[in-house]
Amino acid sequence: MIEVRCPADGRLVGRVPSTSPEQVRAAVARLREAQPEWERIGPGGRAAWLRTLRDWLLDNDRHLADVLQSETGKPRAEAAFEVPVMCDIINFYAKNAARFLADEHPRPHGPLGAPKRLTTTHRPYPVVGVITPWNFPLAIPAMDAVPALLAGAAVALKPSEITPLTAVTLARGWTEIGAPPVFTVLTGAGATGAAVVDEADFVQFTGSTGTGRAIATRAAQRLVPYSLELGGKDPAIVLADADLDRAVNGIVWGGLFNSGQACVSIERVYVEAAVHDEFVAKLVARIGRLRQGGDDGSYRYDIGAMATPAQRDLVRRHVTEAIDAGATAVTGGRPGEEGLFFEPTVLVDVDHSMACVREETFGPTLPVIKVADADEAIRLANDSTYGLSASVWTGDPRRGERLARELDVGAVNVNDAYSNLFSFTLPHGGWKNSGLGARFGGAQGLRKYTRRTAITAPRLPTANSEITWYPYGPVRSRLLGRLLRVLTARGARRWR
Ligand code: NAD
Repeated sequence: MIEVRCPADGRLVGRVPSTSPEQVRAAVARLREAQPEWERIGPGGRAAWLRTLRDWLLDNDRHLADVLQSETGKPRAEAAFEVPVMCDIINFYAKNAARFLADEHPRPHGPLGAPKRLTTTHRPYPVVGVITPWNFPLAIPAMDAVPALLAGAAVALKPSEITPLTAVTLARGWTEIGAPPVFTVLTGAGATGAAVVDEADFVQFTGSTGTGRAIATRAAQRLVPYSLELGGKDPAIVLADADLDRAVNGIVWGGLFNSGQACVSIERVYVEAAVHDEFVAKLVARIGRLRQGGDDGSYRYDIGAMATPAQRDLVRRHVTEAIDAGATAVTGGRPGEEGLFFEPTVLVDVDHSMACVREETFGPTLPVIKVADADEAIRLANDSTYGLSASVWTGDPRRGERLARELDVGAVNVNDAYSNLFSFTLPHGGWKNSGLGARFGGAQGLRKYTRRTAITAPRLPTANSEITWYPYGPVRSRLLGRLLRVLTARGARRWR
């Protein structure tokens, strides 16, 4: 059994089994058996089940927020945020699934295809393994399991061993509404995840770059497709013409939401020299008004705990190493005395060799770097092994959009943080070490869980043979050769 503790106060909040590889194999076999009927009921039938699940989520939102808060130590406002996110994802994909999965009839392009009716269909991978991290125990499973289910796949969800209780509650909801047995939650640590990779027909992974690499290697050996949503080191660029109050409010939220434990957290801030000092002063003042603590469900706090001791220690190392190398913590800089808290921290006088700028911190830290101009900001922002997302803060949104095209990342928000993630018609995927593939992106977010079948059929009544079939012979073959030349050549060559 795996014990789950609340990071805010260390109390034991639950236990879940560690699922063995044999149990994973058996569970996936059961999913495989149930999946064909799930595919047969079509997008409309599946959408009806997902909408029933949405209603169950809304009917149980307080309980879900309690469970989620107990295992993450998040403030109530953030714990309560995940049910509506999941409902929104269900609504988007349930509404569009039939259209996104509809057959297509591409036009034939040339002489050989002309007599054919062409069709492509989308058939689901039978079992999709969804492996998720601890930072958003409901929202991240929702982002991947909902489209996979609507695509017609069965889903084996392997939640993080640190926060498995919300996923277990979700699985209970699926059973309670009486839905077909095509969704199961397999609790356990890395070995359980590895067993899911060994059994699934498609692996959808969200987590660290190191684990993503191990999963990619294993999936490649099995020749099963995979999609990886990995870590980030998102830069924010503040230009001198920005509305500084909005930039400060947005960057404080974008950097400290979920105690900075989000893949798309702002982890580096580049500020044009002309406004650097004013920006830092406002940033420190804004952070000074935040309330940090173990939330009892009363919405009293803005910032909660770190999820694990290891995560808290990583943040401490990044801050300490930076200070030892000459940086200054103008606010924060220390862990809390009780529970797994770390003070929101602003670091100045940092340089680009420091771990707090180069490695993913995944904590409530904002290193701020003074730059001469936008060009230097772009150059430094791109000087990273990660490429998840970025933000540009400017009084001229069109200029922000132009600069977005120079950033080597999967998404850029102008004068905002996180907003691309809630636009399901946009793809969410990382460049470089931040991932391979993407989630969402309208139809593609659902079609990625399907394989295409290409079908050709005659448009007109057919003869008992075709001119391209046997037997070959001088007359027929030359005639066919000339015909094809006329049809494929352009200009004078056609008649030569
Ligand atoms: P992690 O890689 O340690 O674990 C993620 C999941 O993988 C867990 O469920 C874990 O049990 C499982 N796992 C571990 N070893 C495995 C193996 N060998 N085979 C299969 N599964 C295995 O990540 P974490 O610490 O839980 O999450 C934090 C990381 O996730 C950060 O790097 C963060 O940036 C990233 N993240 C990315 C996104 C995104 O969308 N790009 C979103 C959230 C978090």
